[in-house]
Amino acid sequence: EAKAQGKNSFAIYDNRMNELAVERLELEWDLRNALDHKQLSLVFQPIVDIRTGKMLEVEALLRWEHPTRGMISPTLFIPIAEETGLICSIGLWVFREACYQLHRWGEQYKDLIIGVNVSARQFHQPDFVQQVKRTLSELRVEPCRIKLEITETAMLHDLDTIRSVLEQLRSLGLRIAIDDFGTGYSSISYLSRLPVDTLKIDRSFIIPLGEDKRTDGVVKAMIAMAASLGLQVTSEGIETPQQLEVLRSMGCDRGQGYLFARPLPAGAVAALLEESGSVLSVKA
Ligand code: C2E
Ligand code: MG
Ligand code: MG
Ligand code: MG
Repeated sequence: EAKAQGKNSFAIYDNRMNELAVERLELEWDLRNALDHKQLSLVFQPIVDIRTGKMLEVEALLRWEHPTRGMISPTLFIPIAEETGLICSIGLWVFREACYQLHRWGEQYKDLIIGVNVSARQFHQPDFVQQVKRTLSELRVEPCRIKLEITETAMLHDLDTIRSVLEQLRSLGLRIAIDDFGTGYSSISYLSRLPVDTLKIDRSFIIPLGEDKRTDGVVKAMIAMAASLGLQVTSEGIETPQQLEVLRSMGCDRGQGYLFARPLPAGAVAALLEESGSVLSVKA
């Protein structure tokens, strides 16, 4: 009997594995069509000057409205896009759409910078720099209005390729940020040799700020290191006035998080810029 039961639970486990595999295949299939079916869109999350609250940048974040499952998080579908290689066409669409947004805003918000996330796989396409260049010139976007975000962990493998691509992008005038900083293992020596402008401190370091002396120390050290390398620092995931206060006292340059604003459709960003004169008030 025990044997039968064991077999049974194995069957259940097996079924569950099957379901997961099928679900994943379905998602992959649906993702292949998502672009053509216009299910992808961008939202934009403000990044502010931490001293004044002035909106200086927005980060473009991808959203997928699935016809039957509703909104699917990028943390779920970006890995699928990366594994299948779909990220190259999706990523190009994201870049184009971000440029198009700048184009639409035209002269009106001409100092606003858009951050665009880029996967390692995109950097390894032989014509990536060419695509970027072509898109910028087609939509008449100044390269300095775009900041490409690449995660620290993505930078770590095949550093030579990444560095050479970053150098080409930088010489075109684009800005570069290292995203999710602190989650990889970059050494200071190679950071100083990478052509980057900004470090974005990962949210996991911001969460315990003000509650845990050790994390405070680490964040303080990161900010000091960035300053000594001449890099800007943005903290992501700021949710409380306390976190903001600590970051201010440490001299962090820029902040992003629900305390200021959630990711918003382009129209809502424009409305915020209009009504607030671009200075965001903190939600208590
Ligand atoms: P990321 O680039 O580190 O983006 C920041 C994430 O933190 C976003 O999640 C944002 O909504 C979230 N966030 C911002 N402020 C707060 C806060 O105060 N509290 C909390 N809990 N979360 C906050 P989102 O939009 O779900 O994106 C997740 C990740 O998916 C991104 O992390 C990025 O790695 C990836 N992703 C999103 N869009 C793209 C894209 O167009 N291309 C690529 N390659 N990856 C993308
Ligand atoms: Mg990012
Ligand atoms: Mg990040
Ligand atoms: Mg992150």
